[in-house]
Amino acid sequence: MKAELPANEPERLAALMRYDILDSGAEQAYDDLTRLAAYIAGTPIALISLIDRDRQWFKSKVGLEATETPRDAAFCAHAILRPGDTLVVPDATRDRRFADNPLVTGAPAIRFYAGAPLVTPEGQALGTLCVIDSQPRQLSEEGLAALEALSRQVVAQFELRRTARELHEQLANREVYLAQLEDYQKQLSEENRELQRASLTDALTRIGNRAALDMRLDEEIARAQRHGTALSLLLADADHFKHYNDTWGHPAGDVVLQMLAQVLRRRTRASDFVARYGGEEFAVLLPTTDRDSARRVAEQIRAAVEATGFPERKVTISAGVATFGGSIRDRESLLRAADEALYAAKRGGRNRVMHAADAAP
Ligand code: GH3
Ligand code: MG
Ligand code: MG
Repeated sequence: MKAELPANEPERLAALMRYDILDSGAEQAYDDLTRLAAYIAGTPIALISLIDRDRQWFKSKVGLEATETPRDAAFCAHAILRPGDTLVVPDATRDRRFADNPLVTGAPAIRFYAGAPLVTPEGQALGTLCVIDSQPRQLSEEGLAALEALSRQVVAQFELRRTARELHEQLANREVYLAQLEDYQKQLSEENRELQRASLTDALTRIGNRAALDMRLDEEIARAQRHGTALSLLLADADHFKHYNDTWGHPAGDVVLQMLAQVLRRRTRASDFVARYGGEEFAVLLPTTDRDSARRVAEQIRAAVEATGFPERKVTISAGVATFGGSIRDRESLLRAADEALYAAKRGGRNRVMHAADAAP
C-alpha cells in the first residue's frame, strides 16, 4: 500500500532542499552511523534514507547496492508520517501496509524494518535512519533507543552541513561585496585624479592653468625658503596679439597660443613649471634659478619665439622676470614684480626681456 503524503509536504520538501544534501557524495560521518545502527540492531542492512518528491535517496547504506528507489514502495515514506515515532515492522508479510510491497514480494525480500525519523529542529521529518532484515525479528527497548539516538546524530550532521554552507555563502557574499567596494573606490579616486588634473590644466594649450601656477608657486616658495635656494618667475605676453586675432581670426590666434606653449615647454627644464597665466600671457616658474640664470632663460625663450615660424606672421613676446628675495618675500610680491617688469618691457619697445631688479624705478 502506497503511503499517503504528509500534510505539510511542501514545507517538508522545502526543509529538505535547504540542506542541499540530495545526490551528495558518501561521507565517513554518515557511514559510521549506519554501520553502528546495523551493528546495534544486528541487521544486514542499515540506511540513511531521505524522502524526495518521487524517490527515496540513500545518503549512506550498509548491505544494499541501490542508491535510490521509487517513493511509492518506500517503507520510510510511511515512517515520516509520524515524526515522533519510530516505525517498527517485525514481519512485513503480516502487515497489510507492506504485504504486497514489491520489496517484500521480490528482492530484497524485506521482513523486518525499523525506521527512526530524521526530524529537523523545526519538526520536519526528512527521512529515516532505518535497519532492515530479510528475517522477521524484534528490536529491544535498548536497540530502539539506540536507533533513535543515532537518528538524532544524523540530523546533527545535517545541521552542521547547513551551518557550514550558510557561513560559506556569507563569506562569499562578503568577498563579493568587498571586491565591489574596492572597485568603486578605485574608480572614484581615478575620477578624482582626472577631475583634479582637468581643473589644473588649460584646455587650449594643455599646460598648467593659473590655479596650477598658484599652487606650484606656494610649493616652490616654501621649498626655496626651506633650502635657501633661488627661485625666479617669468611672465611672458604676446606682442600685439589683438592685431593677430583681428587680422587672421580667433582660431588662428588659438593656434599661436598652442605653439607658444610648446616653445615654452621645449625651452625649459622638466623641473620648471609652465602655465597659461591669462589670455595670451604665460608664466614659467624656475626653481633653483637665480637672477642671471633666469634672465638668460627668458632671453632664450624670447629668441626662440621670435625664430619660430608661425602660420601667418612673425610673433614675438615681451617678458618680465623677478627673483625671490629682498622685498620679494611672497607669492603676490613675486607676481607683482614680474608683472611690472613685463610692462616695462612693453614700454621699452616689446620683444624684449626685463628683470624686476632693472625695472625698479
Ligand atoms: P600688447 O603687445 O600690448 O600685449 O598688445 P596685445 O594686443 O597683445 O594686448 P591686448 O591685451 O590689447 O590684447 C590681448 C589679446 O589677446 C586680446 C584677445 O582677443 C586675445 N586673446 C586672449 N585670450 C585669447 C584666446 O584664448 N584665444 C585667442 N585667439 N586670443 C585671445
Ligand atoms: Mg599682449
Ligand atoms: Mg595681455
